[in-house]
Amino acid sequence: MGRLPTSNRTILAISLLLVAATLLLSSLAYGSPADTLQVTYLDVGQGDSIWLHATDGTDVLIDGGPVAAGPSVVAYLQDQGLDDIEVLVLTHGDADHVGGLIAVLRSTIPVDQVLYNGLDHTTATYASFLAELQTRGLTPVPAQAGQTYAWGPLDATVLNPQVPGTGDQNEDSVVLAVAYGAVRWLFTGDIGSATEQTILLSDTLRAGAAADVLKVAHHGSRYSSSAPFLAAVGAELAVICVGADNPYGHPAAETLARLQAAGARIMRTDHNGTIIIHTEGQTFQVEPHYWVFLPLVARQWPPLPDAPVQDPSATPRPLSAATPSAATTATAGP
Ligand SMILES: [Zn+2]
Repeated sequence: MGRLPTSNRTILAISLLLVAATLLLSSLAYGSPADTLQVTYLDVGQGDSIWLHATDGTDVLIDGGPVAAGPSVVAYLQDQGLDDIEVLVLTHGDADHVGGLIAVLRSTIPVDQVLYNGLDHTTATYASFLAELQTRGLTPVPAQAGQTYAWGPLDATVLNPQVPGTGDQNEDSVVLAVAYGAVRWLFTGDIGSATEQTILLSDTLRAGAAADVLKVAHHGSRYSSSAPFLAAVGAELAVICVGADNPYGHPAAETLARLQAAGARIMRTDHNGTIIIHTEGQTFQVEPHYWVFLPLVARQWPPLPDAPVQDPSATPRPLSAATPSAATTATAGP
């Protein structure tokens, strides 16, 4: 009594195994990654480079950082399994945004489409970018406020440049609002408060600027991120792409204070390194830093022939930071 006959015990054991197997299989099915968007703010020193990757395979790269960061950007993207770039966005032609895209275009990564601010730059760096586009047979499409794009699961709206533009590289930066489900992102390039005000003056553009995560304009320059603009955006998280010890004093103390006053949590690539944010379309989560940091440490951002690293513990110093053009230093830096 109390002991099951052997045949019954066998049936029980098989049943338990089946239940366990079913649980395992269902947990695998439910544990597989659902549709998500990953937004990566790469640590490229002083400059911007942001990669949007949706699980359906849609990849958007916004800017490439300075020339010196280009090979590291390419290596990072390839390490992460990037197979192609559906949309390459150049916010504006300054070296700390366009430089690294030269290496991207020289790499084997296929690029389908290029969006830019429609404003050619006179620098040799920009000329190299154009030459690489030509080599690939790519014609960049000028972005204009009001355009909307569906890039896979991403809904993108262009908020700047206006028509006509200002003719200033920074002020004519491509500003992109990207929605993934209910989570909204704003990418601002290097616009200043004048363009912020232009956006606020249009009801449509103003509404389009509302975002959960803001890429802070112009590396946190004091001449950007005006209080009314930050209020209209209403971001929960503000990401500043900026290099340590840059000669421009980015980010400005006033800007940090305005971001704090607006209620935004601040993250910055000079302190946090590469920043990765995930969303399933309802909420967003910042990836714990140790997952992000280790691959970069292992790689040690290999120094490049044209930009030797003085301090091996530091990220490569961008060429653009050492030799700013006279035109840009006269205003607020690139
Ligand atoms: Zn810049």
